[in-house]
Amino acid sequence: MTDLSPVTEHRAPADLPERIQHYIDGQFVDSVDGTTFDVLDPVTNQTYVQAAAGKKADIDLAVEAAQRAFREGPWPRMLPRERSRILHRIADLVESQDQRLAQLESYDSGLPISQALGQARRAAENFRFFADLIVAQSDDTYKVPGRQINYVNRKPIGVAGLITPWNTPFMLESWKLGPALATGNTVVLKPAEFTPLSASLWAGIFEEAGLPQGVFNLVNGFGEDAGDALVKHPDVPLISFTGESSTGALIFANAAPFLKGLSMELGGKSPAIVFADADLDAAVDATIFGVFSLNGERCTAGSRILVERSVYDEFVEKYAAQAARVRVGYPHEETTEVGALVHPEHFDKVMSYIEIGKTEGRLVAGGGRPEGFESGNFVSPTVFADVAADARIFQEEIFGPVVAITPFDTDEEALELANGVKYGLAAYLWTNDLKRAHNFSQAIEAGMVWLNSNNVRDLRTPFGGVKASGLGHEGGYRSIDFYTDQQAVHITL
Ligand code: NAD
Repeated sequence: MTDLSPVTEHRAPADLPERIQHYIDGQFVDSVDGTTFDVLDPVTNQTYVQAAAGKKADIDLAVEAAQRAFREGPWPRMLPRERSRILHRIADLVESQDQRLAQLESYDSGLPISQALGQARRAAENFRFFADLIVAQSDDTYKVPGRQINYVNRKPIGVAGLITPWNTPFMLESWKLGPALATGNTVVLKPAEFTPLSASLWAGIFEEAGLPQGVFNLVNGFGEDAGDALVKHPDVPLISFTGESSTGALIFANAAPFLKGLSMELGGKSPAIVFADADLDAAVDATIFGVFSLNGERCTAGSRILVERSVYDEFVEKYAAQAARVRVGYPHEETTEVGALVHPEHFDKVMSYIEIGKTEGRLVAGGGRPEGFESGNFVSPTVFADVAADARIFQEEIFGPVVAITPFDTDEEALELANGVKYGLAAYLWTNDLKRAHNFSQAIEAGMVWLNSNNVRDLRTPFGGVKASGLGHEGGYRSIDFYTDQQAVHITL
């Protein structure tokens, strides 16, 4: 049974805004047509605020402002050190209000407060990281002795369109805003419609840090309206998108006539592969965290666990027992490990996969709503064992606290199972055999591999997926590459 945290009253932050607006050319504004949409609190599923519902007319205004700031404003022309100072101030401001950010984010998204706090700090770190990187940036020079010197001019591209999902909204926005701004671009951000609250804080932070007017613009609204208009705007040469693979494919098609630069961070169904020689207790701990942290709403979640048959029964028993101890609770409580899923639509999707799982695997933990949480989007950490490779819960991204465990007999079989899905974002390997670890990493179809480790990011490394998990890489200098043009200048001697 799930060890529940005591049921206490759900607490709303004291300083919730009365409405959420767009932010265009340095002003908070409503939609041109005056329309709004409901934003729900995932614990009660009641509307707690109305947000401006952006459409093409709002995107047009935001792009116009961003373009003006790019053509006429100081931002793209500043020295890297000057931009870097402002980015560091942004990081300082984010850090100084991390508790408040975490409260708002947790309230809006249902993420456990302790984890939302970690995400707020990561957002600050993303700004700091890119602030440092652009100052340290050097560009290539090539010499052909006696004939030529050739060098690279790195230039910001223009208005970057940033489209983000709801799972860790503020942090994921910072992952795009940081490098897009550091490199001198201006931006239009379209955050996810389920969770617009924390994005509205950027405007105040940027103003206080001294970001020039028009450099940052925010348009709220639905993907098919505001998102679509941004993708199809002829004056937005870059789109950085994070979201579902199917949305990524649609955006790819819609951006094709404009030949836009695209970066796509998409879905995942990442395997954690546990060999018999691994430290089993460490593997259990890490794989529990890997799929149940952030409510399981994590693109790199290790949502399929493949376990060598000789330790399979022992692993499943330990894993199920530990999953049952994960504390489901109200998002604002410090002890909560799994909060409320973001939205009733997403809750219904996850619950429907749990029902499918009951026909596809052996339920060993969870399996529905936790006791004591009769309303709101609460789901018990759910574990299915003996899941076959063709099961839907093995193949499809659930994006919730649900995991499938499958046995294997040989390294070849483990690799076939690991690679046998359309996704290829992350993989986690647990083994003490050094040769196997490196050879397996090489053969696995995943953009990122962690050996005997949780998902711990190094911001300098490439971030991205293969197959249906993405296109292109961000992270470190790869982000700088995405947000800049590299012009080659040739000099004949
Ligand atoms: P989603 O694709 O439904 O929406 C993402 C964003 O795209 C939202 O802002 C949405 O409004 C917008 N959008 C939707 N349709 C659009 C359209 N036609 N044109 C333009 N914009 C459009 O994804 P989601 O449900 O918000 O997020 C969950 C997904 O994100 C999961 O699949 C998860 O794996 C993925 N994700 C990936 C990463 C990564 O780095 N690879 C990180 C986090 C989340």
